[in-house]
Amino acid sequence: MRQRNKPWAREKLASYPQYIIQEPKEQKGQWQACFGNNRPLHIEIGTGKGRFITGMAKQNPEINYIGIELAESVIVSALDHIIEEELPNVKLMNIDAAELREVFEKGEVDRIYLNFSDPWPKKRHAKRRLTYQTFLSLYEDILPPHGEIHFKTDNQGLFEYSLMSFSQYGMILKYVSLDLHQSDYEGNIMTEYEEKFSNKGSRIFRCEVQYR
Ligand code: SAM
Repeated sequence: MRQRNKPWAREKLASYPQYIIQEPKEQKGQWQACFGNNRPLHIEIGTGKGRFITGMAKQNPEINYIGIELAESVIVSALDHIIEEELPNVKLMNIDAAELREVFEKGEVDRIYLNFSDPWPKKRHAKRRLTYQTFLSLYEDILPPHGEIHFKTDNQGLFEYSLMSFSQYGMILKYVSLDLHQSDYEGNIMTEYEEKFSNKGSRIFRCEVQYR
């Protein structure tokens, strides 16, 4: 995603502590207390401008959501969505997914969403893909046994690679769609990238996979 330099972004993020988690590592093991209830917690990694996570939070008030985004300049747009909607069940975190183990205890996260993750098409960059085996191991460490990842993308190369990666890791492929918008899947919440690429005529690939 193109990231413009927004020097005011940090200040704005700091002024909404009810939505932007300021010291995420200090909340490790205490996420239910942070939300003030014991509802399930679903996270989206690479949340971008936040349309998906706020849409999901609105659609499913019985679930808590955290959007995780590396780019400060992008997460401010997600914050704007949350401020506008005044949703109590969604928060954002400005960290690198590589730090997830420092932020969540084993089993604290009930589901992980990966939407339109950066494809890193060059083979020498494969380790940066969010479906690379080291990330799958990281996710396994914060999910409960049999936890699930729900993944969608417009990028066929990344999708094929990811199905292989999930499978080689020993995960169960529970659902695969090679054309989400023509499938019978209900309740889809579009992301910003999903809208952009589907408007250009791209197919959207989606899968749900589960750890053994
Ligand atoms: N999910 C959004 C959508 O579908 O519209 C954004 C997709 S964009 C292609 C990928 C996003 O993932 C970018 O905003 C990028 O900053 C973020 N990202 C990439 N690597 C990340 C990481 N290791 N940890 C957290 N966010 C990451």
